[in-house]
Amino acid sequence: MDILSNIKYSAQHFGSATAFHSRSGNISYRELWRQSDAIASFLDTELGDDRSPVVVFGHKDPLMLVCFLGCVKSGRAYCPVDTSMPADRISDIAEAAGNGVLFATEDFDESMAPDGVRVLSSEEIKSITSLGGTVSEDKWNKPEDIFYIIFTSGSTGKPKGVQISTANLNAYVEWAVKLGDFKHPADRPVYLDQAPFSFDLSVMDLYTCLARGGELWSVDKKLTKDIPALVSYIAKGNIDYFVSTPSFADVCLGDPAFNGDNLKSLDAFLFCGETLTKKTTERLMERFPDAQVINTYGPTETTVCISSVVIDNEMLADDRSLPIGIAKPGTEVLIIGDDGDELEAGKAGELVITGDTVSPGYYQDPAKTKDVFFAIKRGEKTVRAYRTGDSGYKDETGMLYYEGRIDQQIKLNGYRIELGDIEQNILLIDGVEKAAVVPNYQDGKVKNLAAFIVKAAGSGIPDGYEGRKYVRKSLAGLLPKYMVPKVVNFIDVMPLTGNGKIDRGQLRKMI
Ligand code: AMP
Repeated sequence: MDILSNIKYSAQHFGSATAFHSRSGNISYRELWRQSDAIASFLDTELGDDRSPVVVFGHKDPLMLVCFLGCVKSGRAYCPVDTSMPADRISDIAEAAGNGVLFATEDFDESMAPDGVRVLSSEEIKSITSLGGTVSEDKWNKPEDIFYIIFTSGSTGKPKGVQISTANLNAYVEWAVKLGDFKHPADRPVYLDQAPFSFDLSVMDLYTCLARGGELWSVDKKLTKDIPALVSYIAKGNIDYFVSTPSFADVCLGDPAFNGDNLKSLDAFLFCGETLTKKTTERLMERFPDAQVINTYGPTETTVCISSVVIDNEMLADDRSLPIGIAKPGTEVLIIGDDGDELEAGKAGELVITGDTVSPGYYQDPAKTKDVFFAIKRGEKTVRAYRTGDSGYKDETGMLYYEGRIDQQIKLNGYRIELGDIEQNILLIDGVEKAAVVPNYQDGKVKNLAAFIVKAAGSGIPDGYEGRKYVRKSLAGLLPKYMVPKVVNFIDVMPLTGNGKIDRGQLRKMI
């Protein structure tokens, strides 16, 4: 797999086909190729030997893709920065990237850029692309060069830049293009593009789709505020692959029009980034009897995801939570116990991911890189490995099961509790649609737990005291008493982060 060559092929053989569709505009393969060549040529002339990564700021505009590809064709990594990021974080990223040029495809407050950085607006980017120009393929990123850097939140409050090399991305896409059963094999499949480009879930649709010569059907943030409009927009796209977090699918499920009759072409839901619940899966299977629900798992540090599984009725009927899949070829997941030894099947420990999609490390941060990345001998070979901080186990067939973050494990009055465990049990209560449990800290210790619950439409759970009593009583039948949250809050909508995951920080503030 060589992504750039695949895109070039599409540009040459069906150049007029749409590569990317959004409410900000469309771009064909031919134009994507031509305009990104022009950007590469500009960077080459403007920056010479300065190969530092280039920040590309914006949302769901075709120019984002033009700039991404322009950077890598000029031999530079790009750092995607979404408009939803707070200004301080944008400044930190621009400072860390250290390049003299910043592409801003949406309105940009120049005070967010470090002194001396040339911010190019969308008008300026368009005038660069209209000038044309090209670079030789010798300039393209080499396998060991960094393709993109995605900044994720770091425990110190400063973002960490996860570097993904061209070889990492090619190895990932080689596998990801085969995800799904292709029930209605489309020559040019349509992928939903929903996640912001600064969240690595977007890489799943972006490069898998472009490598296959398909069309990206992009959803912007504004549209997600109006669910019926969102669902009717999605239905117009004739989407084959629905790539999102489970939380985003839950949002769509809020509209009864989100069903297989209205989205006839849909082949598969591809989920990643957070726990896929049985409840969400069952609702999707009921509404979309012909589509597959695929759970994938992986952190940004190992290139989007490294395992996948098609969920079936047997898994839904199983006592265990849904599996997160079998590792892809080229990847091995080791389960490591507290003493650092590999554990046998069925035993839970930390998931350590090894193989060809493990990142070279954090940008300009050897100390943090050393904390979690290392080399390990597997047979004859030495492979790169990443400690995920996730806890889980493998069964005899190699199927992986996720049990939560090691750091989401809390202690309450000496009892060891996985918050995810309580959430899964709340979801078993009739009339509950979404649930999250957060710890309430006092003096550095967990004082009690608070549950936040979104009721299902037509739910029989009463409001107020009676409802809270009902939930606690139902839970007491499912969990040890010490795990039943003391505080139960009913909310209308579960707050989500910019990446579409449950915003636990926000919930903690609501206690
Ligand atoms: P991110 O780097 O933002 O993609 O977040 C990675 C983390 O999300 C992983 O380390 C897991 O804790 C969680 N995660 C990713 N995929 C799944 C999944 N399918 N089920 C449960 N948690 C997941």
